[in-house]
Amino acid sequence: MDLLKKKILECGKALNSEVLLVDSFLNHQVDCSLMSEIGKEFARLFKDKGVTKVVTIESSGIAPAAMTALEMGVPMVILKKATSAILSDGVIQTEVFSFTKRTSYQLTLKGKFIVPGDKVLLIDDFLAKGEAAMGGANIIKRAGGEVVGIGAVISKNFQPGMKRLRDAGYHVESLAQVSRMDENVVEFEDDDE
Ligand code: 5GP
Repeated sequence: MDLLKKKILECGKALNSEVLLVDSFLNHQVDCSLMSEIGKEFARLFKDKGVTKVVTIESSGIAPAAMTALEMGVPMVILKKATSAILSDGVIQTEVFSFTKRTSYQLTLKGKFIVPGDKVLLIDDFLAKGEAAMGGANIIKRAGGEVVGIGAVISKNFQPGMKRLRDAGYHVESLAQVSRMDENVVEFEDDDE
């Protein structure tokens, strides 16, 4: 998605070869008109999947997921990050290791928000090692839903997440596929349109 790649080059900042800062338009300050275009693009890419719910992970996935859900005319469900296991009826959890915080959290869903038969599009801001997406997919399936697609706003394809998810059989789309990064350098794959 050219608009997004342009924004990353203009406003993103590669801290090192691993971490890209996008807090001026995606996950701290939010460029809502860019998010609206991102929502339209995900809706276009997954339009034939019969999506009944868009699921995301708090908090950085919420803006692009909300716009996608709005565009597709379906509800958005937010997977919460809890610090401890919750022993309560109908709550589904799985442990996820956070790429940025270097610590684990309990990805948490009240099961009633995903019902058997739901066809779920999982949206997140970044795809790095695939931990968050695999955890999200695990919870959705345990609730009885089917993961019909996974959308990342930005994937760092030199990290293993994209391959891991595709090897697991998921249909994954990324709107900006980064092939290489270094301090203040970001390069994209050629074929990500
Ligand atoms: P994964 O679970 O795929 O290893 O990492 C994905 C999660 O880590 C995303 O939800 C995102 O919040 C965070 N993340 C991964 N890489 C980056 C990055 O380069 N920059 C930022 N800001 N967040 C990232």
